[in-house]
Amino acid sequence: MLERDGVPRGHYIGGSWREGHAGLKVFSPIDEAPLGTIAEASAEEVAEAATAAAEAFPSWAALGASGRAPYLERFAEALGARADTLARVEALDAGILESRMRHGIVPRAQLNIRHFAQAALTLQDRTLETKQARHYVRHDPAGVCAIITPWNSPLMLSTWKLGPALAAGNTCILKAPEWAPFSSALVAQAAEEAGLPPGVLNLLQGSGAGTGAALIDRPELSRISFTGSTATGKAIASKAMSRLVPCSLELGGKSPFLVLPGADLDLAARTGALMYRNATQVCLAGTRLLIHETLFEPFLERMGHYVARLTVGDPRKPETEVGPLIHPRQAARVHGYVEGAKARGAEVRWGGRPSAFGALYYEPTLFTGLPADDPLVQEEVFGPVLVAQAFRDEDEAVSLANDTVYGLGGVCFGPEADAVRVAERVRTGFIWVNAFGIRDLDAPFGGCRQSGVGREGGAWSFEFFCDIKDIIVPTTPFEPSFALR
Ligand code: NAD
Repeated sequence: MLERDGVPRGHYIGGSWREGHAGLKVFSPIDEAPLGTIAEASAEEVAEAATAAAEAFPSWAALGASGRAPYLERFAEALGARADTLARVEALDAGILESRMRHGIVPRAQLNIRHFAQAALTLQDRTLETKQARHYVRHDPAGVCAIITPWNSPLMLSTWKLGPALAAGNTCILKAPEWAPFSSALVAQAAEEAGLPPGVLNLLQGSGAGTGAALIDRPELSRISFTGSTATGKAIASKAMSRLVPCSLELGGKSPFLVLPGADLDLAARTGALMYRNATQVCLAGTRLLIHETLFEPFLERMGHYVARLTVGDPRKPETEVGPLIHPRQAARVHGYVEGAKARGAEVRWGGRPSAFGALYYEPTLFTGLPADDPLVQEEVFGPVLVAQAFRDEDEAVSLANDTVYGLGGVCFGPEADAVRVAERVRTGFIWVNAFGIRDLDAPFGGCRQSGVGREGGAWSFEFFCDIKDIIVPTTPFEPSFALR
């Protein structure tokens, strides 16, 4: 299918496709069928991509936002023209539901490009009038940006970063995730078809330890935008900081899902079942259910009712709601957490074993009866295994919610005033009240503590991808003086 759809396997550097060397084997999580090999960019190829991006930067930046907008509009159109292929490819190599790709993620990917291209048009309009001066606050493009994404939603995450980076006038090197590399190849193909000047968007295929690490070492980089695990984020940040290259890090999570007294239990329970979407390989999923003690059993009973109806299976089928885990290594990790929790005496409320559907499929699982310091309560599983704890009052709810090293997201169900009050005390980058998954491109997104550094989205993306410069023009006569002005 990949051949039929013309999905490239190599790198896209300075406007040309390179076959590249060696090769990493890629398997479909659907049935572990081999999908062929992709290239692994060598240090030389990484250097070529960095040079191409650096050479393309001055003229792309000089175009201005209005000069770049038509290119980016064509880029969004070219993504749309590949909607079917993108949906099928990402279902095949990342295991994401094909229907969700077609109806949700591909249109969103197009919007990621269009929205920021439009927003950039007014980026330079900001002036501040003070007593003595007018300040023209400029967002100058920073230069060459490395964009590194994980396998759990490659199209969504790559375009979410490429949109603002390119619209602001930067050139980019996208490093594809090696377990799900093909939608990134289609993104580069769309950029080529849209006529983006050579070097403006480059694509490197390869492993994190090889290609990714070589990319981070390039002196041409002005920004690194990374989404992935906390451990990799720390490794990248320490290298980047030694050269003072700003990083935006969107990392792991173990987000709380709170159910307060007075919550709409049915809405909360249906939303709870949604946490198994993408087999819970979703950074922002609420994986720790924190339920008021009076609602604990009624809530779990209702949520269990909805979970029992979830269809686990082939992500290409429209009726499927929970697809596969990405890789045998990920399946082993999930199973290890489940067996460990059982051995420590936890109670399996539902699931607790691999699904009969296939080797990489796991039953949506919930554990209760674990202490707050248990690894399953504290660590990110990145698979369909949730844990539930009861709380007595609001203070205990907040204290349990904040009792992990992470601080990405959260969900809080309850009467709105109560839920907002609790949400204000939860230490995360964002939290939904009586809802889940609403993402607005102008809103800030990111985590605190071990879930990340910085925010992207709207103005926050532009602040990260730009050098902010203040041009100060006095509005009152200026007189040189040694006194402080
Ligand atoms: P990962 O950190 O292993 O890999 C992410 C990317 O980094 C891949 O492209 C990989 O090749 C690359 N990489 C690995 N080592 C590198 C190195 N030394 N230098 C440069 N690049 C390197 O993460 P993963 O397993 O692919 O993804 C799952 C993780 O991503 C989970 O922890 C999840 O929570 C997180 N995630 C976070 C968000 C968010 O927005 N906060 C969104 C999605 C996923």
